[in-house]
Amino acid sequence: RDLVSPDADGDERAIEAALRPKRLSEFIGQGRVREQLSLVLEGALRRGRPPDHVLMSGAPGLGKTTLAMIIAAELGAPLRLSSGPALERAGDLAAILSTLAEGEVLFIDEIHRMARPAEEMLYLAMEDFRVDIVVGKGPGATAIPLDIAPFTLVGATTRAGLLPAPLRDRFGFVAHMDFYTPEELEQVLYRSARLLGVTLPPDAAREIARRSRGTPRIANRLLRRVRDFSEVRAGGEVSRETAAAALNLYEVDAEGLDRLDRAVLGALLHKFGGGPVGLSTLAVAVGEEPETVEVVAEPFLVRQGLIARTPRGRVATAAAWTHLGLSPPPTAFG
Ligand code: ATP
Repeated sequence: RDLVSPDADGDERAIEAALRPKRLSEFIGQGRVREQLSLVLEGALRRGRPPDHVLMSGAPGLGKTTLAMIIAAELGAPLRLSSGPALERAGDLAAILSTLAEGEVLFIDEIHRMARPAEEMLYLAMEDFRVDIVVGKGPGATAIPLDIAPFTLVGATTRAGLLPAPLRDRFGFVAHMDFYTPEELEQVLYRSARLLGVTLPPDAAREIARRSRGTPRIANRLLRRVRDFSEVRAGGEVSRETAAAALNLYEVDAEGLDRLDRAVLGALLHKFGGGPVGLSTLAVAVGEEPETVEVVAEPFLVRQGLIARTPRGRVATAAAWTHLGLSPPPTAFG
């Protein structure tokens, strides 16, 4: 299931570091975000002050960490990396905030998962560049205010809706990252191929791009599998055929669906006549946990217009029947 998962594990993070664009001009796609961000950065550089805090929202693997690194590079500022789950206690955050250098960029990934006390400390830090260090407990506790260096917070979240309003409101700029078009993914692939020393013909790039679920991380991962396959089975030459054969071998189909996606669709059509069917019933039918089906397979299938969520349950669309090579019944949804 790993091949089309939008999340990266530790080993992959190291490989990805080598493929990250370093400057805004190298960053592919997200045209609107790039333009908005370049104005924010340019304005700050002219004024000689740190820019407003930046919130980035979007699915995993779309380049939020990459953009945070680019923001620091464009400002010529140091960068500190942290994440919501690592900030369990207010003290964890205080330790970071109190040691920030002037103008430093603080990146907090998964900021919606930060613990409440840390979040409250962050409000004050973002607004007044100050933290209150609480000393003692109970009625005798006192707060000692501590000034911190002006900094820029860059927060990333997959779910902007989960962020409490007071936190969201303290960001001066919110960047909404969309899935990439196939053409943009082709550009990402050409760039990565160049860095990996792989010659990538256009039809092979197209083949990989359309199976990449709109996500650069997945595109780069599929490219590496295609490279391996071509080295072992085709004397190192990457072509549309080796790309398709490699990805078929790894069970990533022409639209980017993998085995679980197809199992879910297959069960919906063959066992439940296209639905509606409840999520847990569907999960039992494919032998998975409901959460796996809901978080891993369903969002992509919904985005592809293959499944619809209705109040009565999951329903296959006419496109789902066609995707599995069947003709949709006249009553098919959509
Ligand atoms: P997560 O939320 O899981 O941390 P992310 O949104 O922060 O994901 P990144 O780690 O920034 O995603 O990007 C994943 C990979 O995709 C990196 O290797 C990066 O090089 C590549 N990538 C992302 N966006 C672009 C882009 N616009 N151009 C080229 N490569 C990109």
